[in-house]
Amino acid sequence: MAFPSLRPTWCEIDLGAVAHNLRQLRGLVGPEVAIYVCLKGDANGCGAVAVARRAEAEGVAGFAFGNVDSALACRDAGIASPILLYPSCLPEVASLLEEKRLMPTLSTLADVAAWDQAARGRLSVFLKIDAGGFRAGALPHEGAAVAAAIVQSRHLHLAGVYGHPMTSYGFEDESYTRAQLRGVEQALAEIDRAGIAVPVRMVSSSAIVLAHPEADLNAVDPGRLVLGLPFPAVAERKVEWRPALIGLKSRLVMVKSLAEIGDVEPAPFMTRRAGMRIGLIPFGWSDGYPRKMPASATVLIRGMRVPLIAPSHSELLRVDLTDCAEAKVGDEVVLLGRSGEDGIDLDELAGQWGVSTHDLAPAIGKTLPHRYVG
Ligand SMILES: *Cc1c(COP(=O)(O)O)cnc(C)c1O
Repeated sequence: MAFPSLRPTWCEIDLGAVAHNLRQLRGLVGPEVAIYVCLKGDANGCGAVAVARRAEAEGVAGFAFGNVDSALACRDAGIASPILLYPSCLPEVASLLEEKRLMPTLSTLADVAAWDQAARGRLSVFLKIDAGGFRAGALPHEGAAVAAAIVQSRHLHLAGVYGHPMTSYGFEDESYTRAQLRGVEQALAEIDRAGIAVPVRMVSSSAIVLAHPEADLNAVDPGRLVLGLPFPAVAERKVEWRPALIGLKSRLVMVKSLAEIGDVEPAPFMTRRAGMRIGLIPFGWSDGYPRKMPASATVLIRGMRVPLIAPSHSELLRVDLTDCAEAKVGDEVVLLGRSGEDGIDLDELAGQWGVSTHDLAPAIGKTLPHRYVG
């Protein structure tokens, strides 16, 4: 953001947790394996530029993006490390990618022809292998032919080969995961037999890093794990991860006593209690709050748990301050984080909203200003 946000609502991101998680990851994969941090979804709502800066300071090998605009923003913010683009743009932007040193993903012989024609000087590219996710990528038996076409092209340079087994998207099937890993291995073996050099070999997103140490190859590209989101792990890869998203906070912009409003009709959507006081929080479903107010929705104000009042609004929530007599305009409201002796953690907030912890940061990180700590 070019100017400081005036919004009194923000999420807190702990960059110390990002650094901690990267050191844990380094401990698991050892010194030889390159770490490419996946920064999809604006680093899962945590802010790609800030996360990339911290990760670069920790000495990672590079970054991977699913959104070319986000990758360009990082490059222009001074991120100098190699950047891989998952399939996300068309050959017509080839010259800009060359200039900015962004490496697109190619899957087919037609891709190779189109990108080679569009490139001017030398464009580094990655080949993706599709071993059963049926998204981007050459099928394992086609991999060597596409790799050969890349090395024989005029302008393209093969920087690496990667795969992304479909797992951890509510689709966990251990034998299918293994079959996909074998598919990528088979393609790499055929590329090797063809005498083609593959500098970067990578197949491990977070779920694979934690459950398949044998699949580290010479590089890994986890994303959510670096941000401290939980995944199942094999025993030797169970370590302490710290969440990067540690706070979702706002401040009361209005407090009023309903005793003062006279003869207004009782509202059908809420019971008005004698002496009731309500407060307004400038945050709502346009910012990621659930459209249907959760039954257990509570926030912390002055260390006290206070209930929200249904319904939720586009950019406002109402809170029942009747039992929090000292609450006044400007007070901090904690939806996630600590307040006094009490706290609401990611699991509790996800439980209130009826979502997974993996859904929280992308939901709220899109529109809210970020405050970085650590
Ligand atoms: C999204 C993605 C990743 C990272 O996934 P996480 O589950 O966040 O670790 C890695 N590789 C590819 C190809 C991806 O698309």
